[in-house]
Amino acid sequence: MKDRILDLIRDVPDYPQPGVMFKDITPLLDDHVAFKAVVDEIAGMFEVDKIVGIESRGFILAAPVAYRAGAGFVPVRKKGKLPSATLEESYDLEYGSATIEVHRDAMAPGDRVLIVDDVLATGGTARATVELVRRTGAEVVGIAVLMELAFLKGRERLEGVDLRSLVIV
Ligand code: IMP
Repeated sequence: MKDRILDLIRDVPDYPQPGVMFKDITPLLDDHVAFKAVVDEIAGMFEVDKIVGIESRGFILAAPVAYRAGAGFVPVRKKGKLPSATLEESYDLEYGSATIEVHRDAMAPGDRVLIVDDVLATGGTARATVELVRRTGAEVVGIAVLMELAFLKGRERLEGVDLRSLVIV
């Protein structure tokens, strides 16, 4: 399955800015056999109560994983998008910073949680999401991503968390 995933993730040079090689997962989503295989694989990794999806491509994977796994779906969104009371976490980007939020009541102590996203790059987004989940009192059982960009060393920021990447490049 790894080769198929690699074939279906497209490299787009200089997006969203010059010098960046963007990994575009839309060809994989467009292939229903590959999309289903990826969702089934992630859904079978852990026994959990909640699947947390990270805006926005993470939602595309996390929602069907939640459906398949028989778990609830929880969105982590950029600041200002969630309507009810939230917890927020900020993290550094190459230039500036970003803030993400989750609904305070979306998870609780005793919940076992899997975080899902498309691409792990520097790990900043995933790290902040781990903190958000833990602040609700829930347990982060693991993180699943479609693709890990190893050269950016995101894994090092997630020590102690069970990180599973379907492909590592
Ligand atoms: P990080 O915080 O640097 O690990 O960046 C990860 C976040 O940015 C994830 O939510 C990804 O969706 C997004 N991201 C970073 N690089 C790429 C890429 O090449 N393709 C798709 N998404 C990316």
